Amino acid sequence: MHVTMIGAGYVGLVSGACFADFGHTVTCIDKDAGKIDRLRAGGIPIYEPGLDMLVASNVKAGRLFFDTDAAEAVRKADAVFIAVGTPSRRGDGHADLSYVYAAAEEIAELMDGFTVVVTKSTVPVGTGDEIERIIRAKRPDAQFAVVSNPEFLREGAAIEDFKRPDRVVVGVEDERARPVMTELYRPLFLNETPIVFTGRRTSELIKYAANAFLAMKITFINEMADLCEAVGADVQQVARGIGLDKRIGGKFLHAGPGYGGSCFPKDTLALVRTASDAGSPVRLIEATVQVNDDRKKAMAGKVSGAVSGDLAGKTVGVLGLTFKPNTDDMRDAPSLDIVPALQAMGAKVQAFDPEGTHEARQLLREVDFKDDPYAAAQGADVLVIITEWDQFRALDLHRVKEIMKAPVLVDLRNIYRPDEVRSRGFKYVSIGRA
Ligand code: NAD
Repeated sequence: MHVTMIGAGYVGLVSGACFADFGHTVTCIDKDAGKIDRLRAGGIPIYEPGLDMLVASNVKAGRLFFDTDAAEAVRKADAVFIAVGTPSRRGDGHADLSYVYAAAEEIAELMDGFTVVVTKSTVPVGTGDEIERIIRAKRPDAQFAVVSNPEFLREGAAIEDFKRPDRVVVGVEDERARPVMTELYRPLFLNETPIVFTGRRTSELIKYAANAFLAMKITFINEMADLCEAVGADVQQVARGIGLDKRIGGKFLHAGPGYGGSCFPKDTLALVRTASDAGSPVRLIEATVQVNDDRKKAMAGKVSGAVSGDLAGKTVGVLGLTFKPNTDDMRDAPSLDIVPALQAMGAKVQAFDPEGTHEARQLLREVDFKDDPYAAAQGADVLVIITEWDQFRALDLHRVKEIMKAPVLVDLRNIYRPDEVRSRGFKYVSIGRA
């Protein structure tokens, strides 16, 4: 089949490359000419493990193309995916749908013959109806169906998630779209991946409900962590003790500095707004948003607490800036709250991140960016782990202690064992462990 992906970002590029790997002919369109030039030259504009090889092999096989101009690719396409950004709208927290609607206008102008228009971007309930209206208004004669097919991949494991998902959700209102979607996902049908066919509005809501639930689960264990600190319990063991219960499950029960990233913050907020507009408020999610915002802001206090409450003139070494490991994505990363708060308390910050430094330079001011974890620890009064990159899990603690001004480690991801670190002479502060 001929597939066109509008938007070649974290979702569009991965989905496009994976559909090409399934055997379809895919063109990824992006209006960012720099991105397309880079892809055409064999580069990858984002960091995602395995993506370079997947893109290269499918380009070589003649199944994957890149363009800034959508005309030919949309004209030929059996399915056109909209995979553009839906950030929080400034001021009110609703999803900003301007990119989605602009893409719909463009598709309407270009499409030729029966075309399935698929929304892969995360969009509020009713967006598919509006896309249909936009296309119909521009092209009353056009033969098309608008489908919702939300994406559940995780950055850092995106290819595996796309190719071996827990489920695929497809919201259709027009039965003509069903065989097209079935054919697109044929390898997954053969794998017996559950494919949930549903109505379009339901499909749109499933995506928000999934993200809101996961954000709430993280926030739940974060509050338990605070309680553990207050009463002398251990949140790791609480998480294990409840997570082994199959009704609860052990995933997303890692206490930390609060969730961030390109999805949870904006999607929880958008769901709150949708629900409030619909007169059916989601109070659990409202509380989740509030608790998480407060938590990210409170983390700097944990760092200052580790050095007697005074950070003025002190040097803080920071390990990890991206919102999670194995990505270069800095969108809504906890570090964007924590680092400025440390600076506001008078600290000098020196930081290292394996992949996020380029992006972080645009977002953080007056940070001394270093090239390796030991350089970030050098001369520091306290070292803070914000993101749990694998390479921080086995630091040479002896060396770290030697080069720091004072051996104080604040581990906001609980990647070390307290007894292990303390036995090496560190003052060690972690999350939810007495
Ligand atoms: P992104 O910002 O990385 O990519 C969006 C791309 O679309 C950009 O490269 C931009 O230049 C391009 N674009 C915007 N308008 C365009 C147009 N009219 N024509 C061509 N290109 C255009 O965003 P992303 O992280 O890939 O997210 C895309 C959507 O997928 C969002 O709705 C997001 O919520 C959802 N989503 C993201 C993830 C994730 O992990 N990043 C996971 C699941 C769902």
